[in-house]
Amino acid sequence: MVRYGELSTKGKNRRDFIAKLADNIQKALSTFPAIKIYPKHDRLHIILNGAPFDEIDQKLKKVFGIQTYSPVIKTDRTLSAIEETALNLMQATFKDGMTFKINTRRSDHEFEYDTNQLNALVGDYLFDHMSDLKVKMKNPDLVLRIEVRKDAIYISNQLLHGAGGMPVGTAGRAVMMLSGGIDSPVASYLAMKRGVKIDMVHFFSPPYTTDKALAKAEELTGILANYCGKINFIAVPFTEIQEQIKEKLPEGYLMTVQRRFMLQLADKIREMRGGLAIFNGESVGQVASQTLESMVAINDVTNTPVLRPVATMDKTEIIALADKIGTFELSIQPFEDCCTIFAPPRPKTKPKLDEARKLQDRLDSESLIQRALDNIKIIPIYPNQKFINDHFEDSDNLL
Ligand code: ATP
Ligand code: MG
Repeated sequence: MVRYGELSTKGKNRRDFIAKLADNIQKALSTFPAIKIYPKHDRLHIILNGAPFDEIDQKLKKVFGIQTYSPVIKTDRTLSAIEETALNLMQATFKDGMTFKINTRRSDHEFEYDTNQLNALVGDYLFDHMSDLKVKMKNPDLVLRIEVRKDAIYISNQLLHGAGGMPVGTAGRAVMMLSGGIDSPVASYLAMKRGVKIDMVHFFSPPYTTDKALAKAEELTGILANYCGKINFIAVPFTEIQEQIKEKLPEGYLMTVQRRFMLQLADKIREMRGGLAIFNGESVGQVASQTLESMVAINDVTNTPVLRPVATMDKTEIIALADKIGTFELSIQPFEDCCTIFAPPRPKTKPKLDEARKLQDRLDSESLIQRALDNIKIIPIYPNQKFINDHFEDSDNLL
């Protein structure tokens, strides 16, 4: 039983949310042909038909738009069926010394027992058939949840955390500027979590950057694809632009002008792909290119919303999230990226907007950008199973 995330929306939006979530779950579970998915207006049921719950669990916890979910057993609407199922579940999971309680909820108010009666009746039945049971109302080790609905009764002893957020695809499309660093994969995760379908844009500068650096960015994309299915990875050759900047512009503005080009290129690609926004992994004040002054001098090239999911996070917070989503280990592998190679020793932390514009005008930006666009490569990247991550909140038992 899957319970929806932030479902404040109504009407058509709500239907779209549920349809998209069902679709995303179907894709995430495509390796289990026996399962059946039934989206309903207030929850979604996945009938396992014998598929292993542990493996389904690993996939489900990465699907955005799920608030909580539980393995449940569906029973007939009779007291004896409820009692029998409750006993089976308890016998399978209860260990000596544990405390428990029964929590009944009723959406069908015509059912012959109310919640207090059911709690008492099923409790008595369990006490009659098991020894050493201890009830505890506050924070028991185990909560047996009984849900009475019109179609059936659902019984469960686990409540698991979903990934939260919105189903990927419900918030439209955008491009994500993905380097090989720590921050942009985390920003990607957060963008996807809000329901945005992203295309990765990655700048590379052969021969200054190697195939391995490119492969690293692709592999990071593969890890992130575990949260959304296939991602298109767009590799943009950046060598000529960087060489021209280095040759013709004063050192203090190399970085600022480079970033302006990157943003312009990302914006063109966004337009080509029907995206509405650009995401990146900037965090305010982290490095010279991420001061507010730098953002002003760089952001100047476009009116498109540039969204920065990690803008206000500390490095330690970003790292903790990178670790959780499974990108950290790969992000810290030491491969040069195009920014480090052309990084001036003393970049301006407070570049001037007018100066940045004036300097960029010395270059033939239009044809440089066009040549880079003519040579982009679009590579579909599929979920990288190797990185199924065991740090990711392992079946957090909320009981
Ligand atoms: P990251 O860890 O994401 O690399 P960072 O703190 O190292 O971030 P920068 O290298 O200054 O910061 O990059 C800032 C942002 O610019 C990145 O988060 C990313 O969104 C974008 N960016 C930088 N280099 C590239 C690149 N080679 N390709 C695509 N985007 C890039
Ligand atoms: Mg970087």
